[in-house]
Formats: sequence, C-alpha cells, structure tokens
Amino acid sequence: MRYISTRGLTGGTGGAPLPTFCDILLAGLAPDGGLYVPESYPRVELAELDGWRSLSYAGLAHAILSRFIDDIPAGDLYELVARTYTAEVYCHGRNPRQAAEIAPLRWLEPPAEQRGEGGLALLELSNGPTLAFKDMAMQLLGNLFEYVLARRGEEINILGATSGDTGSSAEYAMRGKHGVRVFMLSPHGRMSAFQRAQMFSLGDENIHNLAVRGVFDDAQDIVKAVANDPAFKTRYRIGAVNSINWARVAAQVVYYFKGYLAATGGAHGSSDRQVAFAVPSGNFGNICAGHIARMMGLPIGRLVLATNENDVLDEFFRSGIYRPRGTAETRPTSSPSMDISKASNFERFVFDLVGRDPAVVRQLWSAIDAGRSFDLSATPFYGRLPEFGFVSGRSTHADRLETIRRTCETYDLIVDPHTADGLKVASEWRTPGMPMIVLETALPVKFEETIVAAIGRKPDRPTALEHLEDLPQRVTVVDADVEAVKRFIVKHAG
Ligand SMILES: *Cc1c(COP(=O)(O)O)cnc(C)c1O
Repeated sequence: MRYISTRGLTGGTGGAPLPTFCDILLAGLAPDGGLYVPESYPRVELAELDGWRSLSYAGLAHAILSRFIDDIPAGDLYELVARTYTAEVYCHGRNPRQAAEIAPLRWLEPPAEQRGEGGLALLELSNGPTLAFKDMAMQLLGNLFEYVLARRGEEINILGATSGDTGSSAEYAMRGKHGVRVFMLSPHGRMSAFQRAQMFSLGDENIHNLAVRGVFDDAQDIVKAVANDPAFKTRYRIGAVNSINWARVAAQVVYYFKGYLAATGGAHGSSDRQVAFAVPSGNFGNICAGHIARMMGLPIGRLVLATNENDVLDEFFRSGIYRPRGTAETRPTSSPSMDISKASNFERFVFDLVGRDPAVVRQLWSAIDAGRSFDLSATPFYGRLPEFGFVSGRSTHADRLETIRRTCETYDLIVDPHTADGLKVASEWRTPGMPMIVLETALPVKFEETIVAAIGRKPDRPTALEHLEDLPQRVTVVDADVEAVKRFIVKHAG
C-alpha cells in the first residue's frame, strides 16, 4: 500500500516512489501541506467479514491493518498488535472481567426485531490506561514507533502540548519505549487534579512533564515555534504524535469492524445488515476512521456526527459551509475534548467527497489556510453528501446534563459528558430496524464535576485509580519561553 497527499503530491522529488506506511509513520503533514491517505481503500467482502467473527480483537486488528501496512512483515505486525490489544492494557474500564474483549459492546436497549427496533448500544473504547478512546490507537502507535525506530537505528524526541486527554494518552503509550522520549507541555495549574495526577505520576525516565506558566495556547505556541526551527528540529530529532497521524486513524478503523460484528450477532451472525454509529467529534479523527471503514465496505448505514457548542462540523453537514473559528470564538465547554475550532482530519474526508481531486482540495484549503471559509452548498459535491452516510447534530451543556441524568435513570449507567453528546445526537437520528452504536469516548471519572452537576454524586472510580491523586508527582514548571523549553530538551535529549 502506497500513500498519497490530499493536496496532490505524488512521489518525492526526482520521481521517487510514493511513501509506504513506515515512511509516513513518524511524519506529520505531507511536504505539500496536505494529509497522507492511502492510494485506494482496500475492499472487504461481506463473506470475508463473516469469517472475521471468530477472531480476537488482535486478530481483527491484524486482518484490517495488514491491508494498510505492507512494509512490516506479517509475523512482526501480528506480534505488535497482539502485544498492544491485551486484557492487561485494556482492563482499566468499568468491567475488568470483559477486558479480553478490548472494546466490548454494551446494549442499552437490546434489538427487538419483531418490533422493528434495531437497538441502542455503547461501544466501550475507554478501557485503556487513560480511560479515553485515544488509548485505542495511541497504545499501538507506541509499539509501532519503538519497532520502526529500532529497525532504523534512530531515536525521536516527541514534543507536544496538551490540555488533558491527548498528552496523557501519548505518555502512557510511550512510557518505557526504547528510542522515544516525550516532552509534554501543559498549562500550569489549569488541568483538573485527576488529569495532573494521571500525567505527573508517571515515573518513567523517558517521560518529561513541563508545566508552562500560561494558558494552553502559550504551550501550543512554544511547540509551534520549535517546529518552525528546522535546525533545532533536525539536530534534536523532534517529532509529534498529533491527531493527523495516519497510523492513529488506521488503528481506529478496527473498532468500527469490532462494533459492527458484535452488534450483528455472535459467531453465526450475518453481515448483510446495516448499522449506524454516533461519534462525539472534535478533530474528526474518530469519525474519519468510520468513514474509511464504510469506504472499505463495512455496512454502515449512517455516520452520526455529534458536536458540542463548538459546532463547526455540524454547521458544515447542515449547510455545506466550513467555517473554522478563531481561538476567541472557541468556547470552553463541559465536553472539553471537543472544543475544537478547526477539525484537523476533515481534509481527509473532503478529499473523498470531491472525488479525490487534489486540485479542488488545494483550492478549498487555500481559503482555510488563509483564515477564511469555504462554501460547497452550490456545488455538486454538497449533493453527494448523502452517498457518504453522514448526518449531524449538536449538543449543549444543558443537553449533556439532561442526557447524563436520563441515561443514569433509564439504564443505570453513568456516561461521561462527551459520550452524552453522542447519545443526545444519536437519539435524533435513530432509524427503525437499524442498530445505533454510540462510541464511548471517555469514562465519567475523568469529569467528576459535570457528573456531580448532573446527578448529584460522583461516579465510581476503578479500584486501581482510587488513590491516584496521592501518588508522588514529577513535573518541571517553566516560563512560557521557547528558549527555556529548548534548554530543557537539550539537557535531557541525550
Ligand atoms: C479526542 C476526544 C474526542 C474527539 O475526537 P476526535 O477524533 O478529535 O474527533 C471526543 N471525546 C473525547 C473524550 C476525546 O478525548
């Protein structure tokens, strides 16, 4: 499998061949500023899908990922996924007895076929070490990085800024990995006590937490400044693990297959039914994987995109207008991981929507990169949206509290605020006979305050995390100063 850029770069300079999976694993954007996508989507036939019903999660991951990765020998790839998707790594959720399932499906309303009810289910994706769905892909990324770096005899220093979920997920994925060091900046004193404890209690030598005196944007600006210093970047082998990383998207494709197979019956089910997925969305990474699963032939009837008050994406699917917001227009909400003003993976979907014509993508993103918007409503592309199965909706703080309360009352289950956004929008798009699977993107224990506001009590903590805030913490406080951060990296980059 070869990879191309959404902006049309084909081959390197001088007609070099197109990159393979390992070539782009450690890269960010393509050199032309676009995102890497596979040259074509591998097709999965329904008969083959039925054959996958008996596979373990790791087996399924191998079956799917081997279609995208042909530059890692099959045996090595199997070993990497088998080491990633284990009950020991995914035992941190609500029900450790189900840990071997990695991403169990939980019916809230079982299907009642004689009444034409498709049912409503949650796909549990938050059983990894940081209790959010990002672990599903990031844990694999950690193992892939270590493998590819060792093969090439290279090292990498990952520099990132986080306001919570992504940073901790990256640290838990990279801890103890050979050839990898992580320098994670976070806004000093602005994360929740739980988030701080989760990140700062890591004692691994290759993990460095830097609390920047400032807000998230200050931390982010430092990362950008370092990324814009090519000499420093090369000399200290600076890399990133951001949400545009293709391997993360590819790893996420797997759980759509897993959710589909679980919802359409046990080992003897059949794969001619359609299901719907509802996805709490921010950077469009999670739902982009659903789009790819659908392009591969998975019978997904609907992809329901849910946003919070930061509704850039809902606005696009309703109007054809994509209008990224500025920081000032991005509202802090009680589902903070969806407080996104610009959806970094969206370009991958638009590439397919416009018939994979890079000239159109270049033209659209010349407006976006200049801080403007684009409007597809008067183009034939807008009319094609239904072919891609997308619908959307938004959810507000009041909706979130109401959904958490009602879900607790009706199903005796506490969901986190992001998953609540997904459930709320899912309820607007249910179709008779079609199972609706809502992706659970985090566990409620990460957002205790909002849960208390909704139901008046805290959610239960997984036993292993009961004393998380009491563990010793390791963090270095620095000024919001690029040079100070660079000095720290130089000193610790080895
Ligand atoms: C990252 C995140 C999201 C948004 O996912 P995208 O891939 O950015 O669309 C939603 N919920 C939670 C809890 C997250 O951490």
